[in-house]
Amino acid sequence: MDLHERIERVEARIMEACRRSGRSREDVQVIAVTKYVDLDATKRVIEEGFIHIGENRWQDARPKWEALGRQGIWHFIGHLQTNKVKDVIGKFDYIHSLDRISLARELDRKASEMELRVPCFIQVNVSGEESKYGLAPENLMPFVEQVGKLTQLDIIGLMTMAPYEAKSEQTRPVFAGLRRLRDELNGSGLLENKVKHLSMGMSNDFEIAIEEGATWIRLGSVLVGQH
Ligand SMILES: *Cc1c(COP(=O)(O)O)cnc(C)c1O
Repeated sequence: MDLHERIERVEARIMEACRRSGRSREDVQVIAVTKYVDLDATKRVIEEGFIHIGENRWQDARPKWEALGRQGIWHFIGHLQTNKVKDVIGKFDYIHSLDRISLARELDRKASEMELRVPCFIQVNVSGEESKYGLAPENLMPFVEQVGKLTQLDIIGLMTMAPYEAKSEQTRPVFAGLRRLRDELNGSGLLENKVKHLSMGMSNDFEIAIEEGATWIRLGSVLVGQH
């Protein structure tokens, strides 16, 4: 299957999930995750109109970012080591993996030096799977209280990864859980601005994520392919 065909199939599935859940297609944005593919393939994805590009390691993203730069809008979706903040800051437009205060402070410090603001998603480990990064749900509110004091970070939403399930339906409680946490956060009054976004859903489970309120889905293999 070529890229164009994959896009059409994915698009039809997104539309159908939106229809089933009474949501509007414009409320769900797609991040094309290009971590498995090279610069040429990434270029084609952008030419097809998918300008939101997700990468999870700076080493892999670098040649693409250097060649394509502002043709894309860049989302850092992987675990971010504190000593790598200097590489990604000012290049990636969104950070989806804010999950600890040391990282928040380093992002804030570097952003302040560069006089920019960084839109961030807080990553929550809703499933409790040990292999997953992210805050434990019970630590979200105290974390937001601390992060709220930093001037350069804009918390715009929450992000999670569901465990891979052969039956994607089984991921539903994870996505519903993230939505509930967002609503609780908005009810808590801890943030000056309410957060709207839920970054959740990947190739295996994006339809369930849409049904549960995803505003950003992160699609790699199903959209971009593997190589
Ligand atoms: C790789 C990756 C994706 C995309 O994975 P697919 O299953 O190929 O769609 C999404 N989010 C994160 C955080 C990833 O690392």
